[in-house]
Amino acid sequence: MLNLILFGPPGAGKGTQSENIIAKYKLIHLSTGDLLRSEIQAGSELGLKAKTLMDQGILVPDEVVIGMIDNKLKEHRNAAGFIFDGFPRTVKQSEALDQLLASYNESISVMIALVVDDNELLARLLNRGKTSGRPDDQNEELISKRIQEYNSKTKPVADYYQEQGKFVAIDGIGEIDFIFEEINKAISKVTVK
Ligand code: AMP
Repeated sequence: MLNLILFGPPGAGKGTQSENIIAKYKLIHLSTGDLLRSEIQAGSELGLKAKTLMDQGILVPDEVVIGMIDNKLKEHRNAAGFIFDGFPRTVKQSEALDQLLASYNESISVMIALVVDDNELLARLLNRGKTSGRPDDQNEELISKRIQEYNSKTKPVADYYQEQGKFVAIDGIGEIDFIFEEINKAISKVTVK
């Protein structure tokens, strides 16, 4: 299985590159942001609780997203692999993911981080907000809060995978196709069991 984490701050291009990766490698896309927005759309209790936090740019509790990922892994037992997008976002989530995968005799193959500076992120997210319909993309203060959450809680996740020798950083500024090529190179170096 190829189990890939696409890592980076909000607006780094994870969604766009996920689409390219899925098309080429036939992986199951697991985006916790998308899963949470589906819950909100469905009006579920989980969705209602998550919305209050998401509307403030704050991370939802670890247990909530870990539970959602657990369900999805169970649902797709015969997948060629997974791409984790927007997850794990805390070290606790990383540890839980490693444990879940280990219970299937699986592990993370590689973490690919898209590196984009804060000014560029802000500009991209405000621009995306014009069409994404996402309330959290439309307000500068909220975007800054999300970037702040990323810097304080999510960045340490990179060290976690670096220590396992699984971390690859790629410049996330430039042509989409060029960045995808760099991602392909990183994937080609991974040995998949
Ligand atoms: P995203 O679509 O990945 O930008 O996520 C949108 C919002 O959903 C975030 O600002 C968080 O409030 C919440 N969220 C998404 N994924 C996670 C996660 N793995 N852990 C905690 N909160 C998350």
